[in-house]
Amino acid sequence: MTVTRACEFWTSSTMLSSMSSSAFDASTHERISELGQLVLSGGVINREAALWLFDLDNTADIFEVMAWANRIREHYKGNKIHLCSIVNAKAGSCSENCKFCAQSSFYQTGSPKYGFVDPEPVEEAAVEAKQNDVTALGLVAAWKGLNEGPMLDEVCDRIREIKEGGKVRPDASLGLIKNQRVADRLKEAGLECYGHNLESSRNFFPEHCTTHSFEERLETIGYLKKAGIKICSGGIIGMGESRKDRCDLAMELREIGASVVPVNILNPIEGTPYEGMEQLPPMEILKTIACFRFILPRQEIMVAGGRTVNLRDLQSMIFAAGASALMVGNYLTTLNQPVEKDLQMIRDLGLDPDWNADFEDQECEDHDCGSSCGCELEPEHVEAEACVPA
Ligand code: SF4
Repeated sequence: MTVTRACEFWTSSTMLSSMSSSAFDASTHERISELGQLVLSGGVINREAALWLFDLDNTADIFEVMAWANRIREHYKGNKIHLCSIVNAKAGSCSENCKFCAQSSFYQTGSPKYGFVDPEPVEEAAVEAKQNDVTALGLVAAWKGLNEGPMLDEVCDRIREIKEGGKVRPDASLGLIKNQRVADRLKEAGLECYGHNLESSRNFFPEHCTTHSFEERLETIGYLKKAGIKICSGGIIGMGESRKDRCDLAMELREIGASVVPVNILNPIEGTPYEGMEQLPPMEILKTIACFRFILPRQEIMVAGGRTVNLRDLQSMIFAAGASALMVGNYLTTLNQPVEKDLQMIRDLGLDPDWNADFEDQECEDHDCGSSCGCELEPEHVEAEACVPA
């Protein structure tokens, strides 16, 4: 009799723990595990499943999603953590009205303003980056975009100098590109990866920027891909967007074939329209990173701006949530914790800061789906529940 009762108890989809009054939902546990196993075996989760993960609220469920995300990171990325840093190559007075940005000319923020950077500060940044095991140094400019002309020549000179210096991979984030020739010139100068965040979902984008469009961002990415340049593209969370928006952003990043996916967390800057924005709870941030890992298993998921101020003592948990890369050094307009502290954090977790990163681990060789799972997804593959192991 007792045995029968026990069986009935354990086969129920909702089990009550004898230690606490909180409900343990076995079906949730099973679904998280199924999705984790699907991704580990090379499958691709669909939008409905992804959204279900984003919508989980229970802390125990979030830790379970993180545990799977950590396993997925280890499976596809090993124990290497890639580090990137940036140089603010042209600061302030930007013509665009992105509501989160201290460098927009629309807002009074007290952020520094200067023209395009000379070779010396870039060389110094490359030396420092190399000393700290940093993979890539990104030249970041606060302007709408880059056209053909003397400024493009100067940008190409800086890229060439970093490349020839041989210390770090030259990356750049230089705004919108309006023709193929500009992208080709950057490639010829030695650029391997271009940072161009989608920032948020297609639906939410007009809420934070109206001076250019989501479509223009996609168009820029198209030129860069055609030139053979890898795409570093992610977004900012905590701007008032919904979980659905975050999910849509991750799905869009999968579709465009982003190789590196920065996850920034809004750091509300005084003087911007978002200065009073309520911060996201740290567990919501960690869950978002974990959901991104489920959707983008092979990509570098890089936690970037806003990590220190939003996660505080929970910063090291980003790796347990599936992050495989970290922006180190100071951000464009805000301070980060010292690089030495980040390196210590990574080593204390048994992880390895890896300066010699390439993108080979993102190629899928295991499937007969005709796609490279994650970096060059075909539209029909994105919709598929899973691709079939060869
Ligand atoms: S995010 Fe970039 S484009 Fe937007 S205002 Fe800032 S510098 Fe300009």
